[in-house]
Amino acid sequence: MTVSLWQDRSSEVTHRTDFVVIGAGISGASAAYWLASRGEKVALVDAGPVAAGASGKSAGMLLLGTADPYSRVVDLYGRDRARDVWSFTAECRALLTEHVFGAGENDADLRLVRTGTVSAAVSEHELSEIRRSGELLVADGFAHEDLDAATLKAAFHGDAFLGGLRDPAGMTVDPARLTRRVVGLAKDRGAEVFENHELFRIEEHEDGVVALTSRGRFEAEMILLCTNAYSPLVHPHLEGKVYPARGQMLATEPLPERVIPWGIYCDFGYEYFWQLDSGEVVAGGWRQHSADAEKGYSDETTPGIQEGVWEFMQRAVPALQGKRVTHRWAGVMGFSGDGLPFIGDLPSKPRVKYLAGHTGHGFGFGFLAAKKLVDLALEGDPIGWLGAGRLTLQGA
Ligand SMILES: Cc1cc2nc3c(=O)[nH]c(=O)nc-3n(C[C@H](O)[C@H](O)[C@H](O)COP(=O)(O)OP(=O)(O)OC[C@H]3O[C@@H](n4cnc5c(N)ncnc54)[C@H](O)[C@@H]3O)c2cc1C
Repeated sequence: MTVSLWQDRSSEVTHRTDFVVIGAGISGASAAYWLASRGEKVALVDAGPVAAGASGKSAGMLLLGTADPYSRVVDLYGRDRARDVWSFTAECRALLTEHVFGAGENDADLRLVRTGTVSAAVSEHELSEIRRSGELLVADGFAHEDLDAATLKAAFHGDAFLGGLRDPAGMTVDPARLTRRVVGLAKDRGAEVFENHELFRIEEHEDGVVALTSRGRFEAEMILLCTNAYSPLVHPHLEGKVYPARGQMLATEPLPERVIPWGIYCDFGYEYFWQLDSGEVVAGGWRQHSADAEKGYSDETTPGIQEGVWEFMQRAVPALQGKRVTHRWAGVMGFSGDGLPFIGDLPSKPRVKYLAGHTGHGFGFGFLAAKKLVDLALEGDPIGWLGAGRLTLQGA
């Protein structure tokens, strides 16, 4: 979207605040939460409603690590980096549990399922990576449990899976409700939320920054861009650093019995599904079968991908055959060159910082990555591998 001269109502109202966070997905909601928790005055601003972007379209699996299995990340980036990244996501999940979920009191409200998540293999090649990952993960202190083909066959009454690796602490959640909950917690701590305010220009002055949006002008000490996939549309500096990639999903009518005991992530993360306590099954993926068409900002569904997901699901979980699909949707993820999120400043604008590039794992990374962004903004704390300079060094 763009803002025309006619739509520009930024001159009608001026808001003065310490921080403006652009983007009310899980990243921006979390940044607003951490800022407000530290007593900062913060305005959380989005072009649409809260969770308008990927955070409202996600599968909501709270997984450890990246889309690539641990074994591959060890091969590509070394054992230390792999351990750091997995520890980061484990800490992120622990922080969400401590600050947002509580000891189970919000589970029903958030549609949270805590039975664990399983990386399941659909090929011998994937099985060998999963087994190797399992050994490395356990050696590095991340509790995981091997599941054999017979266990998966007994669970699903089908032959799709050759084996798996269960993360007992893995969870699945309604991602829109989770995002709205984090926004609610930020508001309880004093954050103000401005929906339907599209940012169209950033100005930097000697004593501060100004975010011009379609419905108001925000004067602040600092702007934090949490626009993930949309970041290149907000500022050209983010072009080539984060790439928009569509993910498609569907949901079924509620089933009377549980047919999926865990959140499942399979085919190297290209397919994923889980079942709500209320019976509905949500599933997504298949983008690898038309990777080029799935690039870009469109969030329309396409028949080929939707049929692919549904056929796969009926094979993997035969109890779904004959069931009705009630919802189909798509969302836009922000991929980085190496599968990890990154944080940086706009060139010569240290008052404008960004967090982007969650690469399909924003619920695994977002809450803690936003805290790191806030720690950097407030204290100048080091951000280690999260630094955007990493992408230039790797040529990613
Ligand atoms: C189908 C699908 C399945 C997924 N499954 C999982 C999963 O199981 N687990 C997982 O961890 N992750 C998953 N993801 C990825 C996850 O949803 C994202 O990584 C995460 O939501 C990113 O959050 P974010 O807040 O950074 O970005 P977003 O949620 O995309 O938020 C960005 C916000 O910026 C706003 N914005 C953009 N431009 C402007 C502007 N100019 N002015 C004001 N506001 C603006 C947008 O409206 C949007 O609300 C999935 C994504 C999709 C699409």
